[in-house]
Amino acid sequence: MSAPTKYVYSFAEGSRDMAALLGGKGAGLAEMTRLGLPVPPGFTVTTEACRVYLRTGQEPPELGVEAARALADLERAMGRKLGAPDDPLLLSVRSGARFSMPGMMETILDIGLNDDSVTGLAKASGQQRFAWDSYRRLVQMFGRTVMGVDGDLFEAAIAEHKAGRSTTDDHDLDAAELAAITDEFKEIIRRETGGDFPQDPVEQLTRAIRAVFESWNGERARVYRHREHIPDDLGTAVNVQAMVFGNLGADSGTGVAFTRDPATGARGRYGDYLPDAQGEDVVSGVRDAVPLAELGRLDPRSYDELGEHLHTLEAHYRDLCDVEFTVERGTLWILQTRVGKRTAEAAFRIAHDLREESVITADEALNRVDGAELTRLMFPRFDIRPTDVPIAHGVAASPGAAVGAVVFDSAEARRRAAAGEHTVLVRRETTPDDLPGMIAAEAILTSRGGKTSHAAVVARGMGKVCVCGAESLAIDPVARQFTTSSGVVVHEGDVVSVDGTAGTVHLGALPLTASDVGRSLETARGTGPLTEAVLQALSHADSVRRLGVRANADTPEDAERARALGAQGIGLCRTEHMFLGERRALVEAMILARDDTAREAALAALLPLQRADFAGILKAMDGLPVTIRLLDPPLHEFLPDRTELAVRLASAVHPDLHDRELLDAVERMHEQNPMLGLRGVRLGLAVPGLVAMQVRAIAEAVAERLGAGGEPCAEIMIPLVGTVEELRQARAEAERVLAAVADETGRELGLPIGTMIELPRAALTAGRIAEVADFFSFGTNDLTQTTWGLSRDDAEASFFPLYLEKGIFDVSPFETIDREGVGRLVEMGVEAGRAVNSRLQTGVCGEHGGDPQSIHFFHHAGLDYVSCSPFRIPAARLEAGRAALADTTGTSDSR
Ligand code: PEP
Ligand code: MG
Repeated sequence: MSAPTKYVYSFAEGSRDMAALLGGKGAGLAEMTRLGLPVPPGFTVTTEACRVYLRTGQEPPELGVEAARALADLERAMGRKLGAPDDPLLLSVRSGARFSMPGMMETILDIGLNDDSVTGLAKASGQQRFAWDSYRRLVQMFGRTVMGVDGDLFEAAIAEHKAGRSTTDDHDLDAAELAAITDEFKEIIRRETGGDFPQDPVEQLTRAIRAVFESWNGERARVYRHREHIPDDLGTAVNVQAMVFGNLGADSGTGVAFTRDPATGARGRYGDYLPDAQGEDVVSGVRDAVPLAELGRLDPRSYDELGEHLHTLEAHYRDLCDVEFTVERGTLWILQTRVGKRTAEAAFRIAHDLREESVITADEALNRVDGAELTRLMFPRFDIRPTDVPIAHGVAASPGAAVGAVVFDSAEARRRAAAGEHTVLVRRETTPDDLPGMIAAEAILTSRGGKTSHAAVVARGMGKVCVCGAESLAIDPVARQFTTSSGVVVHEGDVVSVDGTAGTVHLGALPLTASDVGRSLETARGTGPLTEAVLQALSHADSVRRLGVRANADTPEDAERARALGAQGIGLCRTEHMFLGERRALVEAMILARDDTAREAALAALLPLQRADFAGILKAMDGLPVTIRLLDPPLHEFLPDRTELAVRLASAVHPDLHDRELLDAVERMHEQNPMLGLRGVRLGLAVPGLVAMQVRAIAEAVAERLGAGGEPCAEIMIPLVGTVEELRQARAEAERVLAAVADETGRELGLPIGTMIELPRAALTAGRIAEVADFFSFGTNDLTQTTWGLSRDDAEASFFPLYLEKGIFDVSPFETIDREGVGRLVEMGVEAGRAVNSRLQTGVCGEHGGDPQSIHFFHHAGLDYVSCSPFRIPAARLEAGRAALADTTGTSDSR
């Protein structure tokens, strides 16, 4: 018989390996308790208990008994009883899921206070005001969170009392006033719910735990999970812990500390401290904190002790840690720790530094960063001139540069984002209710709160630009405007530039300049701690990765840039742009040709132009493979628009004969579904001379490069093959031309000839196709369209947002490969192709080739390379390295 499920663990019983059961916070508290850090004692109700509650609507029957036993142990350890009328033990009840969801679920503090024990607390602490303030907080939090009363009603009641005293500071309210407010709160609860605030401390505890369970399914928690791809069925643990107080006077306080700077990664402890305050005040940004170093002046002993604990934690977790701490009358308590969230910049620097300090290995350092972070660092920054004076300064909370129209609430941010507009969300401070707007906006600007305020923490997690605590701004959300200290009034819709690296705000759109990281990647030279860290991570990724990384590039300039960024060749050179611009006339002539002679003449005119294009690209990629795809799009895409032509003809006094012919051709070639029409290899087989001209241009360019002493490695790729017979015929024609050019030039021209696998039929018959292909390149753009039976352009504009919202898609299948469907076809294609031709080269050149998650999939599917846009190459190299590490360590995908 298996042991009965245990739903409650004391902090002394858990460990950091139990995060799935105890949640991240519970596991951290347990680990710190084991390490001997000063953690107020407590216990954790498991995520399993929450899951039972969510499934059945009731707590597991054993929970009551287990929690009562844990409470009795806690009371014994503290020498006080929960809610006892003389010297009460008070408890905090906090959520703590497996993955951190800052501010998304509920917290209730000061459980155990009631009309009797508030007097006991006043006596024991010697502070009437403190006791009534604590009771007031409990009734307020309990009323809002557990009993569902609108929080604004409480805020309004406090505001009225403050106005009566002509103050805006809570500290000016004395004990009697707070007692009156508490009574009013109880009255509000009675009025709104028809029930009383419960006086029984155990009932308070039980209901608080249940409220935390329920907050797992609250609106804001669900939105957050969806965005962060956190599964909905994990549930949250609940941590019940003895209260300690930071609001007992000048020798008390509370703060947040990091073992290193989470914004830049710089070494040395870092954080915020709020004297004479309760824990939640720092995170909510309601009051402004002072830098942590200030604690060193106020209370050197606690400061030094905190430093030691930070050191212990970082050495133990071997990573950046953050802690929440409280000083209660000169005694330091650590309330929470976790591996800290950080910006992309900090991620690279910290991984690099910890490796240099021999705390972690090079493999571990590589696993601490990812491609999305690297891409973010390559984004441009503002090009600020000395004359660009900011209209406001604040805390540089999340770096980067963003330009957008000012909006004052979430709904407006979402509305404008849906219309494609970039916005900056401006709030006094943010709460979890602002989350949808924060997701929609490019940047967040607040007038209150420090680096650990809600706005800052959430923005960093999302990689959004954030400036917070810009105190000089008078924000008026009702009038929908803010005023700067110099009197500039900025209205909704006005454009501002937010610099999250400098912590400044400028009026208007500032010009952007390339990032240092982007520049360093192209020159492969570091210019400072960040760029050196990035280059080191990439160099390690290159040394461990198995996947090659090529570029999708169509011009010599792109090819050069891609090569500088580390591309090992071109995986897809699309040739259609070579048929545009001034060459369109020749393409028209080819299409309109009445006979072979006219068509051949048009093709002959295109030939030298294409040859020069290819020669340029082969030169830029000398020594590396260049996969050139023969023309893919339907020919009518190169002709003028049908309606435009018809109108031109109808309104002309003397209709142009050429226009008439063009319109006839356009009408003849019109297709209902061009994506599924005469394109790819079908086009090559249908238009005489087209394949021959392109292959000749490639072959002659290769011969020319060989003549110039180069090392051209062109590969010919036939698109949109559905059956081996198509490839066999196209290949036969290509080989005829190659042989002819070899004869004419006296050069060896055994160019590989392969195909794209971008139709389900091609993947399903890959074994046959491999008989005549030297390589496969999976065109996952078309393969996704044809597997799902949808057109990307139409679907993304119509029902994709709905599908994402309904959770039918987690992410668009055009961004991240659909492993089960399209991915399965890729796996089948590779397997069947290799079984027939063991030397078959395989790659992917759809957009998924640059997507971090897809790259991990392609690594495991055994492809030889991925090919992506030049700017995604560094991230692809990094992710290919991380994917390879997963083979050996089994630990790649996330921190
Ligand atoms: C593809 O289909 O994945 C591909 C690379 O081709 P294109 O996007 O040009 O259709
Ligand atoms: Mg395609």
